[in-house]
Amino acid sequence: MPNALYPVPPIPHGTEQKWTNWGGNQSCTPAFTVRPKTEQEVLDTVRFAIKEGLPVRAVGAGHSFTPLVQTGGILMDLEGLAGLTGTDTDKNRVRMYGGTRISDVGAPLWDKGLSLSNQGDIDKQAIAGAISTGTHGSGIDLGSFSSALRWAKIVNGHGEIVEVGEDQLRELKAAQVALGTLGIFLEVELQASPAYHIVEEITYPLWDDVERNWEENIRNNRHYSFIWCQEEGSAELYELPTPKGESMVNRTYTKKYRAANLDEATELSSVEGARKDRAYNIYAGGYMIPFHELEYYVPAEQGLEAVKAVQNLLQTTHKDQKYPLEVRWVKGDEGYISPFYKRDTTVLSVSGAPGTDYWPYLRDLDALLEDFDARPHWGKIHFMTRERMQRHFPEYDTFVQVRREFDPNGVFLNDHTRALVG
Ligand SMILES: Cc1cc2nc3c(=O)[nH]c(=O)nc-3n(C[C@H](O)[C@H](O)[C@H](O)COP(=O)(O)OP(=O)(O)OC[C@H]3O[C@@H](n4cnc5c(N)ncnc54)[C@H](O)[C@@H]3O)c2cc1C
Repeated sequence: MPNALYPVPPIPHGTEQKWTNWGGNQSCTPAFTVRPKTEQEVLDTVRFAIKEGLPVRAVGAGHSFTPLVQTGGILMDLEGLAGLTGTDTDKNRVRMYGGTRISDVGAPLWDKGLSLSNQGDIDKQAIAGAISTGTHGSGIDLGSFSSALRWAKIVNGHGEIVEVGEDQLRELKAAQVALGTLGIFLEVELQASPAYHIVEEITYPLWDDVERNWEENIRNNRHYSFIWCQEEGSAELYELPTPKGESMVNRTYTKKYRAANLDEATELSSVEGARKDRAYNIYAGGYMIPFHELEYYVPAEQGLEAVKAVQNLLQTTHKDQKYPLEVRWVKGDEGYISPFYKRDTTVLSVSGAPGTDYWPYLRDLDALLEDFDARPHWGKIHFMTRERMQRHFPEYDTFVQVRREFDPNGVFLNDHTRALVG
């Protein structure tokens, strides 16, 4: 029984609780699972871990597909340390606890006249979890959650609380995407936007149309994204609505969002595919049926060529793969190991079916996109190694230096992160 090996941690905890991620492809049995509700409890737990020589990993909503959370030491679930802690409407800034779920931010932020500047396909993640992996939405002029990070309060591997802000750019750029390796993010400050509504437009153009209007759609929409279906049954794997009587083969589910300032008494709409609502209501949602996803990022100038190469792979060597191809865009940023580091990006996401051998497909895709200098989503399946990171991230060494300053003894490393950035 793991608990017998160690003294009792200084806060309420459970032992031998198996943890599993959303996708069901990662699990572990930590020695302790702790659920701190105060900053002091986080600090006490980290100090206990340092004293006992136990590693610590944080978990947000468990929506990553990679072994980021796994630990045999202390798993720290930060769901209890959640909620907004402040807003600055002059600078459009918001502060919140690291465990705050994105879905819980929209309404209280709206009451202060603010909205998150962009969101992804779902809003179930914890904010520190989303920041830690470079989680993003779509829009060539819109950065990831990580790029919006302006300040963070962190418990580091020395057992201290430290603050990182815009006056320490080196540390801030490391903190923007850190895979949980700098320490526990207690609280974060994000650049937000004045509150805005979204006018949604969902259409189902054929591929030729998408290709013909490629650049115009990217440039002329706040949010533009599409999901290309290779098979009739592909759309339903992502629970997508489809137009009645039309084949989805070689057709896309296309989303365009325009920001607006609507009169809530007269202009809102809940018509599916043409909703008009507060931004956070349009972004709300999650998936019900698990899938195992890989997501790679290529320079936006090469986006079309890369998409056609993946379509070709699906139509030739890997005809057995039914999950569609999602394509999005993200603005370049400054985070040292951010996949968008100094590069406007086209995002390509594919999935394998749980319980099947999708590895040959994903490995072929990895090899194919290496020719496009692809970088991975850290929270989705990838094949990155330290040697590849050194090639793909010009500031890799700076990140590792900062990480070692924050956590010289590797309290916050597990096998996966040690191999990448230890
Ligand atoms: C259905 C689904 C849809 C998705 N849609 C998108 C999308 O649209 N766009 C996109 O970019 N990604 C998307 N993702 C990926 C997801 O956003 C990322 O994997 C994200 O990191 C998950 O957030 P989480 O809160 O679940 O974090 P977890 O998976 O729990 O943790 C991720 C990392 O954050 C660290 N961490 C968590 N909390 C803290 C803390 N307080 N302090 C320090 N480190 C911490 C963990 O240690 C870990 O390293 C999706 C995933 C799923 C399953």
